[in-house]
Amino acid sequence: MRNTRPLWDLVDHHREDLTGLADRVWGMPETLYAEYRSCAEHTAMLRAKGFRVTEEVAGIPTAVMGEAGAGGPVIAILGEYDALPGLSQVAGIAEPRPVEPGGNGHGCGHNLLGSAALLAACALKDWLAETGTPGRVRYYGCPAEEGGAAKTFMVRDGAFEGVDAAITWHPDCMTRVDDPESLANTRMDFTFHGRASHAAASPHLGRSALDAVELMSVGVNYLREHAVQDARIHYAYLDAGGMAPNVVQAKAKVRYSIRALKLADMLALVERVKNVARGAALMTETQVEMDVFSAVSNNLVNETMDRAMHRALEELGGVPFDADDLAYARAIQATLSEQDIAAPYRVVAMTPRPDEALCDYIVPLRPGGEKMVGSTDVADVTWAVPTTEVLVATHAIGTPAHSWQITAQGKSPAAHKGMTHAAKAMARCAEMLMTDPALLAEAKAEHAGRLKQTPYTCPLPAGLKPPLVPRPAA
Ligand SMILES: [Zn+2]
Repeated sequence: MRNTRPLWDLVDHHREDLTGLADRVWGMPETLYAEYRSCAEHTAMLRAKGFRVTEEVAGIPTAVMGEAGAGGPVIAILGEYDALPGLSQVAGIAEPRPVEPGGNGHGCGHNLLGSAALLAACALKDWLAETGTPGRVRYYGCPAEEGGAAKTFMVRDGAFEGVDAAITWHPDCMTRVDDPESLANTRMDFTFHGRASHAAASPHLGRSALDAVELMSVGVNYLREHAVQDARIHYAYLDAGGMAPNVVQAKAKVRYSIRALKLADMLALVERVKNVARGAALMTETQVEMDVFSAVSNNLVNETMDRAMHRALEELGGVPFDADDLAYARAIQATLSEQDIAAPYRVVAMTPRPDEALCDYIVPLRPGGEKMVGSTDVADVTWAVPTTEVLVATHAIGTPAHSWQITAQGKSPAAHKGMTHAAKAMARCAEMLMTDPALLAEAKAEHAGRLKQTPYTCPLPAGLKPPLVPRPAA
């Protein structure tokens, strides 16, 4: 037993293979259920490292799971590898320059997210084998976090059954345990069907679908005043009905994102937005089709898990950035506004430090700053099993999420240091849960208590299938 390598050495042992994976995935940015190559890379790595692999988890061709170990508790490490449209960007520079104009890019750092999660799983696999500890580690490769809610579909399909606790992370500009809140969110398409007609010669025969979409916007804007405080409603035109003003638009389509801090509030709000759409259809004598595209819950906090993750972070200390990392981070910061740079400090209730380009410390647990709340499909996993998410610094302070600057920094030496650090924090937290039955029992009891208070409702309409895309021809 004494000849075993400590856990963090095991992370370092696999580091090069997994930073290589992160860089390869960076170079093949794929979005929203089209992550065929990225998933194949993760699957190949799982096989090369000796995991027992399950492909097409929950019937999703770009989801994969690898398991190692035997008996004991089952700890899941969640990874992602989807990119974003329009954020193609050359790496390692500090000016906007796409690799491919209009192309996809890893503007949320998920190339690092998946690879670090798999890195943690590799270290835990070795640690379980070397120490003979009963326990299993599972790596879940989850696609389509950006707008596709794959984890929600995976939860609905029972993909996390048998898991005792789940751990994940996200690249960030600060190192800290993530905030406990996220917004429940339904993405929904409203397609209005009217009747085309010559807009000058016979306007009275036309029924405009575009008018319906516009009236729907007006109605929703009035609805905002009477929605819960934390509601967020936004929309994008997917089809405005054509370019010709002299044709009454027979079809128009708008996508809504409807969010609130509590799942029940969000689901109630969805019904009210649907009524506004029905009203717009009535006013314009058009028909409306309403289709949910994807939906996620709000986050169910687990204080026990978050405290354990914070302890792991404190043991580990800050990310060891060097002078070159700082120089590049300063060059990136030169492209940001003062408000951009101040924003992350406001979230953690700190005074901005203008001479600090990278976070090399640990932010206290629950710093009590300003809330800047989005949505994530990790939330549905938090209802299924006790879950914690850690944020680890991989890029310059103030870098906005979903930006060319994130893509640019996505395979820098600082990003590699951050992802390795994230793997160490996650692996250590998993080790605590596997070796301290009281801790795991406390996390599970807390989870059960919260669920008893507020039972889980799957936010997906019954029968809804993930918006899969076919495998591209070889
Ligand atoms: Zn993300």
